[in-house]
Amino acid sequence: MARYTGPVCRLCRRETVKLMLKGIRCESAKCPMERQWRSSPPGMHAWRRGKGSNYLVRLREKQKVKRYYGVWEKQFKRYFEVATRSHGNTGEGLLQLLERRLDNVVWKLALTPSRPTARQTIVHGHITVNGRKVDKPSFRVSQGDVIGVRESEKSRKFIREHLGESPPPVQEWLEREVSKLEGRVTSLPTREHIQIPVEEQLIVEMCSR
Ligand code: SF4
Repeated sequence: MARYTGPVCRLCRRETVKLMLKGIRCESAKCPMERQWRSSPPGMHAWRRGKGSNYLVRLREKQKVKRYYGVWEKQFKRYFEVATRSHGNTGEGLLQLLERRLDNVVWKLALTPSRPTARQTIVHGHITVNGRKVDKPSFRVSQGDVIGVRESEKSRKFIREHLGESPPPVQEWLEREVSKLEGRVTSLPTREHIQIPVEEQLIVEMCSR
């Protein structure tokens, strides 16, 4: 399975938004986006570049979403096709599909410090959905699904260490039981639950060409 292995903070600087790819470091003062002199786009002469063409503005919005959720172009196109076939707003549908990815849900339940760590935890077989092991980070959760941790001491130790005594609260569409190391999808996410600042309509315009 392909994955990006380059410097991740560079991606945040390119998209000029915190993509939260490094767990605890993203919340600390060590995050380059918190330091003015390091938060500019990467590359020489970045300051010379203007606002960019209409195409560039749309491309940046698309890349931002792809990098935030850790999906490649081919996967993204598949999500877009599914979103265009669904009823309702295509842009919102697209974001909802991405938000329902298992790696995103595991991170949102605060079982792991970041989305990339959630992805690795899933691939290594530590996560279950409705009691069955699922090792695909792209698994799409549905309403009522129960996300848990395997009954092995190794799996539970890692998650328990991260959760600690007072884990952060979860969004309204999720429920978590810390003692059981378990979470539940109580409803499907809506646009308000998607935290990344993005104009999804621009992505739709670009992908519909
Ligand atoms: Fe790096 Fe995280 Fe800050 Fe992004 S949000 S620049 S990944 S520390």
